[in-house]
Amino acid sequence: MKIVETKKEVREQVREWRRQGLSVGLVPTMGYLHEGHKSLIDRAVAENDRVVVSDFVNPMQFGPKEDLASYPRDLERDAALCEAAGANLIFHPQPEEMYHDDFSSFVDMSTLTGGLCGKSRPIHFRGVCTVVSKLFHIVTPDRAYFGQKDAQQLAVIRHMAEDLDFGIEIVGCPIIREEDGLAKSSRNTYLNRQERQAALVLSRSLAAGKEQIEKGERDAGKVVQAVTEMIREEPLAKIDYVEIVDWKTLEPVKEIDRPVLAAVAVYIGKTRLIDNFIYGG
Ligand code: AMP
Repeated sequence: MKIVETKKEVREQVREWRRQGLSVGLVPTMGYLHEGHKSLIDRAVAENDRVVVSDFVNPMQFGPKEDLASYPRDLERDAALCEAAGANLIFHPQPEEMYHDDFSSFVDMSTLTGGLCGKSRPIHFRGVCTVVSKLFHIVTPDRAYFGQKDAQQLAVIRHMAEDLDFGIEIVGCPIIREEDGLAKSSRNTYLNRQERQAALVLSRSLAAGKEQIEKGERDAGKVVQAVTEMIREEPLAKIDYVEIVDWKTLEPVKEIDRPVLAAVAVYIGKTRLIDNFIYGG
C-alpha cells in the first residue's frame, strides 16, 4: 500500500491501474479511522480491484467556530488500518495541495443542504460538495463509498453525482455502532466518561422513535416529540435538531407514508454528535 500527498501521484497510479483494466473504488474520509470507516473500505475492497482511501481534514467544510484545529489526526494508525483492510493507496494531501492561493470555485446545491445539519452549519455542504467533486476528478473512481452515519451527506452526494453527471456509483453503507449503541465517530474521542455515557441518549431515543413507527405510529410530529422528550431528560444533552424528513428530498414530513430519515444532532457538552435511522427506504 502506498501513501501519497500529491494529485499527480494519484493520477499516475490510477492511470496505471486503468491501463491494466482494473476497477477503482474511493473511500473519502477525514482520517482518524475507526470500524465505521473500515466497513466502507471492506465493502470497497470487495467490490473493486483497487481501493483509494482519501485521508484529508477538509478545512472548507468547517465553520469558523468549529473544531478544525482540534480534529483528531493519526496518519500512522490510519495507514495500518487501511493496509490491513486491503486498501491500495492513501491520498493524504496537505491543504495547499487541494486549495491553491487563488482558489475560488465551489460546488453549491440549492436543495437538500439548507435543513438538518445545514441549518447550524451553513457552509458545511458547500465544502463537502467541493472537496468530494475534486476527489472524484482526481481519482475518477468507478464507485465511491459513504456512510449512512452522515445521512444528509450521503443524500447530497448522491444528488450531486446525478446532477453533475459524474458517472460514479455512490454506495451507501450502514451505520457501525459501539456495543452499547453509540454510533462510531472520530468525534467520540472528545467525550469524557460522563459525556460518553450521556451520549447514549442519541441511539436510545432514536430506537424508541423507531419502535413507535414500527408499532404503527404515522404522525411524524408525535415521534419527533417522543424522541425530543427523551433527549431532554439527559442533563448533559442540548438538542440542535430532531427531525423526520423525506429520505429523498430531505423536506420535513407530517405523515410517515414514504421512506423517511429520522435524524438528530445533539450537543453532549461541547461535542456535537449526530445519529439517525431510515425507515422504509
Ligand atoms: P469522516 O471521516 O467522519 O468524514 O467519515 C468518512 C466516511 O465514513 C463518511 O462517509 C461517513 O459517513 C463514514 N462513517 C463515519 N462513521 C461511520 C459509522 N459509524 N458507520 C458507518 N460509516 C461511517
